[in-house]
Amino acid sequence: MGGEGASVLPERAQKLVDKLVQQAVDADAAASVSQAIAEGRWDQAERALEAPDRAGEQLAELIDRIVRGVERRSRQWTSARKKDSLQRVLSGSRGDAGRLQQRLRQLVASWDSESPEGAEGGTGETLPAPLGESMPMPLEPTRPAPLDPVEGAVLEWNRVVATMDGTVRRALPIAEKDSLTLAESIADVTQRIQMMGATPLLADELHRLCQRADRVLQHRHHLLEQLGKLCRELAASLTDLAEDDSWAKGQCEAMQSRIEEGLTARGVKSVSQLLETTRSRQNQLREERDRARDALKSLINRMLSELDVLGSQTGRFHESVGRYADVIEKADTLESLAGVVREMVEESRTVQGLVAQTQAKLHEEHTKATDLSERVTHLETELRRLSEEVSTDQLTQIANRRGLLQAFEAERSRMERTGSTLCIGLLDIDNFKRLNDELGHAAGDEALRSLAAVVSRTLRPTDVTARYGGEEFVVLLPDTPAEEGQLILTRLQRSLSGGLFMHEQKQIFVTFSAGVTTYSLGERIEDALERADQALYEAKRTGKNKTCIG
Ligand code: GH3
Ligand code: MG
Ligand code: MG
Repeated sequence: MGGEGASVLPERAQKLVDKLVQQAVDADAAASVSQAIAEGRWDQAERALEAPDRAGEQLAELIDRIVRGVERRSRQWTSARKKDSLQRVLSGSRGDAGRLQQRLRQLVASWDSESPEGAEGGTGETLPAPLGESMPMPLEPTRPAPLDPVEGAVLEWNRVVATMDGTVRRALPIAEKDSLTLAESIADVTQRIQMMGATPLLADELHRLCQRADRVLQHRHHLLEQLGKLCRELAASLTDLAEDDSWAKGQCEAMQSRIEEGLTARGVKSVSQLLETTRSRQNQLREERDRARDALKSLINRMLSELDVLGSQTGRFHESVGRYADVIEKADTLESLAGVVREMVEESRTVQGLVAQTQAKLHEEHTKATDLSERVTHLETELRRLSEEVSTDQLTQIANRRGLLQAFEAERSRMERTGSTLCIGLLDIDNFKRLNDELGHAAGDEALRSLAAVVSRTLRPTDVTARYGGEEFVVLLPDTPAEEGQLILTRLQRSLSGGLFMHEQKQIFVTFSAGVTTYSLGERIEDALERADQALYEAKRTGKNKTCIG
């Protein structure tokens, strides 16, 4: 304290002065006052003693931060929780003023490290909404400007702890009670770490909890693998069950090959869509078949009744013939014989007419039945052709999934030959279900047709537009960096603000979200699409009607 050189005061006196000075002023000021006294610079010592008390200033600043911190509402730190933790820090460090201040600073720093309620993070990012059942998640903490290096380090640690905690909690299946309890225990420990720092006890506790989380997650991975296996087996048995030349075979094989590609979100989604379409086509077929079966049934009934009529007529004719034979035998005059013959001719003509009529009717019904069964066969062939052969989507008249794969293959070999690049974009109409619900399925179809037309018209002739699934489109943009692809699609999105098509004399506005990515040679198109899908998800999550890069 008294400086490195000898003091002008006796050593014991200098020590006493140092002690007094330390009690009177804060640590920084004490050092300079003691130094000045030791060197006999009395004026300077006096000035230093009169300088404003920095300790008081710092304390005032800390109290001010605590008060404002308690008042500020935030999602993770409710006022009650803040007061509770304040109480814990106060009672835990009562005996040591320096430590108390340090802990209080750490505490307000951890409050400050969270965004205020309702505000977006300082980076403009928000966390994805947790899937399924949710529990309150801490927002990704903002990065306030650190006040000093030590506090800065505390803030960074708090961010690290909050991020890890959020990630672990999102990964845990909190719909299960045990996992929810585990997630809550982890949250509790991490919050205590944020408040008090990582003591060995807390670190051990967190380690044990993380080991439990690890076991839960490993079990989930195992479950997922088993589910994947089950799906593959189901798809394989469906394929085996489907009759060889039936259209269902094509659908089952497509489903199986998509499952074989691996368990990606995109793959699973496309299999569900395929199953949905298959189901609705099956229903359509079943209805057609039912109609054909009913028509055949009523045809047979009619035939039976015709035969009945014919039978009764011929039966009567048969009886009449017997009767006529009697009359003829007993006839004694030519006249009476002629009368019988006339009656016979008359009756046989009636029977002949009836037979001819029945024949015509039977022929007509037979033609109808043949038409019906031909329609069913035609429909089945059409479905098979659609699922197996055609590369153009019937509704939008742009490439379908098959056409896309063909175009992609061509692009990929061009890349190999010439070293060109390829940007892949995935587009998904926003709120399409609502459009269908509010304006009807036909308007939904019109939206798909119009959007397909606008996209293909806007892009370059060398670009490819394909309908990838229900309301999803894929674009292939050769020789385009992802940033430019993003620009192109963003421009397209802006251009739709004038309306997409007319429905019942009204302009209908349709928006879409998109994700773009750069295809790397050697990877599968599914991998690139998965990346684009994640970017698309990001676009949906952050407000829709925008394009993100993946
Ligand atoms: P988001 O903005 O999150 O994409 O919501 P969304 O409603 O667009 O998405 P969701 O996947 O919930 O709904 C898609 C809807 O698209 C459901 C389905 O009935 C409809 N759809 C799929 N194919 C067709 C089609 O060929 N014609 C019509 N009209 N609708 C279709
Ligand atoms: Mg969709
Ligand atoms: Mg959609």
